[in-house]
Amino acid sequence: MKRFARLTTLSTLLLAASLTTGAAHAQLAPSAATPAQASAPAEARKANIVIIGTGGTIAGAGAAATNTAAYQSAVVPVDKIIASVPEISKIANVKGEQVFQIGSESFNNERLLKLGKRVSELLKQPDVDGIVITHGTDTIEETSYFLNLTLKSDKPVVVVGSMRPGTALGADGALNLYDAVLVASSPESRGKGTLAVLNDEIHTGRDVTKTNTFKTETFRSPFGPLGYVVEGRTLYFRLPARPHTTQTEWDIDKLDKLPEVAVVYAYGNVNPGAVDAAVKNGAKAIVYAATGNGSVGDYMVEPLKAARAKGVQIVRASRTGSGVVIRNAEQPDDKYDWLVTDDQLPQKARILMALALTKTSDSKELQKILWKY
Ligand code: GLU
Repeated sequence: MKRFARLTTLSTLLLAASLTTGAAHAQLAPSAATPAQASAPAEARKANIVIIGTGGTIAGAGAAATNTAAYQSAVVPVDKIIASVPEISKIANVKGEQVFQIGSESFNNERLLKLGKRVSELLKQPDVDGIVITHGTDTIEETSYFLNLTLKSDKPVVVVGSMRPGTALGADGALNLYDAVLVASSPESRGKGTLAVLNDEIHTGRDVTKTNTFKTETFRSPFGPLGYVVEGRTLYFRLPARPHTTQTEWDIDKLDKLPEVAVVYAYGNVNPGAVDAAVKNGAKAIVYAATGNGSVGDYMVEPLKAARAKGVQIVRASRTGSGVVIRNAEQPDDKYDWLVTDDQLPQKARILMALALTKTSDSKELQKILWKY
């Protein structure tokens, strides 16, 4: 408790310091705001953006400015984060709403559904033009993929985080948040699905993944970002190819529970007991984060077949981080009635399988879904 109190006092001081820095930056704002307006000539008024706070490092504070990677996450309220970037008020009318104050590793199905339903409610309000969600970086890839598949709106939804707390030297949260609001305010962002904005880049929620534990350039999409945000301008270069939001078969408003889907991670000497535990815990599907092209060790084939015989779907994915898993290549999927991911990482395949299982338990249909989204 004592340590927490000290952290808070220091972080308040450091936050005050960053507010002063923010004010100094504000003098540069007019030139930054002009291109944004130029990129949206049709918009006679500023966009109305709701910024939903959920926690993470963007809401974090460290004991010292040199604490770039050791700090307490999820402590600064969203309204305070917004107030620390006064430049935002020049580009949009923003309103903060605190939905959670957690590290994103604590997101589970219930929290994901609660967040999605609130976003959906806000998107239906005619006076809301877009949503920004401040989020811990650990699971942005799961939340943004889930929203990308379940929201029923063309309005921009942008998930944003930071790798360094606002108190750190070289903090990235202020610019990331400013950029996220710019992207959410831009008419060009409509109809592109849920986006993730960090480190000057705009990613599709489908592809984005965290690839480094501490660097600010941690977010990557295997096929590259959709665009950049620079000097107050949103620059798109690519479009998402896979169906999203209004084009999918899921509607967040109609989802009340997600089925249990487990990920079992493969390694030399993987314990078959992990498969049994997943089955015992009620998994309706197991995503097997296999080596290489979805390879399954000889001693793991029988446990996975046994799980399938009990009705649990088996999805071969890859732990390599990119590439597609080829059906009937490393394993006879037709014979075992197993499934393969397309290029989805195991944690993203878990989201897609949970959604797919709300629609069907037919393996052929499930495989089509895995290949479609
Ligand atoms: N683990 C925390 C989270 O994901 C902090 C990491 C971050 O936000 O960068 O919320």
